[in-house]
Amino acid sequence: MIPAPFDYVAPTSVEEALAALKQHGDDAKILAGGQSLLPVLRMRLNAPEMIIDLGRIDALRGIRDEGDAIVIGAMTPHSVVGADPLVREHALLVSRAVAELADAQIRHRGTFGGALAHADPAGDLGGPARALDAQFVIAGPSGTRTVSADEFFVDLFETAISEDELLTEVRIPKHTGWGAHHEKLVRVAHQWPICAVAATARVENGTIADVAIGLANMGSTPLRARGVEEELRGRPATEEVVRAASARAAEGANPPSDLNGSAEYRNHVVTVMCRRAVLAAVQGAGA
Ligand SMILES: Cc1cc2nc3c(=O)[nH]c(=O)nc-3n(C[C@H](O)[C@H](O)[C@H](O)COP(=O)(O)OP(=O)(O)OC[C@H]3O[C@@H](n4cnc5c(N)ncnc54)[C@H](O)[C@@H]3O)c2cc1C
Repeated sequence: MIPAPFDYVAPTSVEEALAALKQHGDDAKILAGGQSLLPVLRMRLNAPEMIIDLGRIDALRGIRDEGDAIVIGAMTPHSVVGADPLVREHALLVSRAVAELADAQIRHRGTFGGALAHADPAGDLGGPARALDAQFVIAGPSGTRTVSADEFFVDLFETAISEDELLTEVRIPKHTGWGAHHEKLVRVAHQWPICAVAATARVENGTIADVAIGLANMGSTPLRARGVEEELRGRPATEEVVRAASARAAEGANPPSDLNGSAEYRNHVVTVMCRRAVLAAVQGAGA
C-alpha cells in the first residue's frame, strides 16, 4: 500500500529538528532508519502530515568513550553498533543483542535510537538497555534531560519522549569484563523474539559478584528479572544455583498470548532461557 501524502523536511541540526517539531506538533513524525515507521505509514496505521528526517544530522551519529560510559548517538545504525570495538569491550551485551536483531539489510538502515524510541516490547534492545541501566538523553524546547531505562519505557510503543522532544543519545555505563549472552527464541531466522533474555554477569573467584538480566516480550515494556538477580548475587556460579534462581524469571511478568505462544508458555520458556543466558554469561566472565 502507498502511504498517505505527507510533507518532508531534513534538518541538519538538533535545534532545527526541534523547531520543526514545535511548528508541526502532533501532525509531525520523526524518521530515523524508517524500518518500523515506513511499514506503519504504508499500512496507513498512521498518517502524519510532516515527516522530519534526522538522517542529515551528523551530530546524532557515532559512538564515543566518556570515561565511565559508552555513548551511542541515536542515529547510529545497528550494523555500526554491532561492529564497534568500544561497545564490544564495555557493553558486550549490546553487541550480542544487535548481532541477532533482524537481518543484515535492516541492521544497515535501522538505528539504535530508532529501535529504542519505537519501544516495541518484542524489540531486541530493550532488555539490554534495562539490564545495563542505560540512560536516555532527550532534547526538547527547554533543553536536554536524561532519564533512566526504568523511566524511559512507559508502555506498549510508549516512551518518556514527548511530542516536542527527540532522543539524541544513549549512555551505557561501562560493564568492562562482564560476560554477556542474549538468548532469543524465534520460530524462523531473523524474526522478532517470541521472548528474549539478555544477561550479563561479573564473576570473581567462581562467585557471581554481580548480574543483570533484561527480558523482552514478557510484558508491555522490557522488564528486569530482579528476583533472579537477587538470588544469584554472591552465590557460586554453578549450574545448580543458576537453574534454581532462573525459576523466578517470570516473576512480575505479564506476557502476551499470540499465535507464537500463550502467556503460560512464555512464563515457562523464559525460565529455561534465563538459565541458558545466565550460564553463558557467567562462563563468558570466566566462571
Ligand atoms: C522485517 C523486519 C524485521 C525486524 N526484526 C527485528 C528484530 O528481530 N528485533 C528488533 O529489535 N527489531 C526488529 N526490527 C525493527 C528494527 O530494529 C528497526 O530498526 C527499529 O524498530 C526502528 O528503527 P529505525 O531507525 O528504523 O526507526 P524508524 O522506523 O525511523 O522510527 C521508529 C519510531 O521511532 C521514532 N523515532 C525514531 N528515532 C527517534 C528519535 N531519535 N527520537 C524520537 N523518536 C524517534 C519514529 O518517529 C517512529 O515512531 C525489524 C524490522 C523489520 C522491517
